[in-house]
This record gives sequence, C-alpha cells and structure tokens, in this order.
Amino acid sequence: MGREDEMYIRHSRQDYTWEGVERMPYKEEGLAPFKAIARQILFSDQDFECELRYFEMAADGFSTLERHAHAHAVIILRGEGHCLIGDTVRQVGIFDLVRIPAWTWHQFRATRGEPLGFLCMVNARRDKPQLPNEEEFAAMTNDTVLAAFFKGTLIT
Ligand code: MN
Repeated sequence: MGREDEMYIRHSRQDYTWEGVERMPYKEEGLAPFKAIARQILFSDQDFECELRYFEMAADGFSTLERHAHAHAVIILRGEGHCLIGDTVRQVGIFDLVRIPAWTWHQFRATRGEPLGFLCMVNARRDKPQLPNEEEFAAMTNDTVLAAFFKGTLIT
C-alpha cells in the first residue's frame, strides 16, 4: 500500500480500529469522571466544519456526564447500552441514531456486559463541556431510574 493510498483509504481492521488511526484515552486533561473508554479521531481536517470520532467503552464503562453549547450526532456502531439525554434514560443499540441538542445533559453507559461503541459527529470548533455541580447531580439522582443509571445497576 503506497503513501497516496493512505490519503484516501484507511482500511478497517475488523475490530473497530482503523489503519493509521491512533486509539487514545478518552480525555487528555481534567478531572471529569469516566471509565474504560477510548477515542479514535476518524476525520479531522481544517477544511471541515466538523469532526467524526469513534468512542468505545468496555463493558460497564461510561462517558463523562456533561453538557455544552455544541450538539452531537451519534450512530451506535457496536453493542447495546443506555444513554441519558436530558432527564430520560434510553436504550440504544447498533445503528441507532442519537441526537444530543445543545445544553442537554448526556452520558453513555455500556450496561449490557459488552462493549458499546459509537460514531460521534461534532463541530470542529466547539466550547468546553460543563460538568454538573453537586446540587445539579443531586437533583438528577432524585429520579430512581437516573440514580440506578449512575450507579450502574440499571436493569431494563
Ligand atoms: Mn458531549
């Protein structure tokens, strides 16, 4: 495979990784809580207004609970699990499309004893995520479904 070919095609390795794409830890900075999740940037180009990333969490892993001004467009690519969007927990599975609007709390969890992987389209230039403060988090856990979701004991 020549150098020119790599400009156009990065072949899938059939294990949810791609040739020439680095598999990185989820967050490079900060104290945002998360567990067992890796990040691959699939498309990032200064001529694009957006980026496409692939995130994958191991069984029982989860993404950071956060909100921000930018939106996400997500396609589940591997496994099943749950996601919190706003104040509702929903089941998600392979090829489901998930819209996360601006300023909406969100978190993905691999609740099915298997990896959960998804493509995430996002603005190339975007604001920094906000984490819930203690009060906001306490308010969310007043809901029994959300409390079980955060504890990783949700069964539905
Ligand atoms: Mn986010």
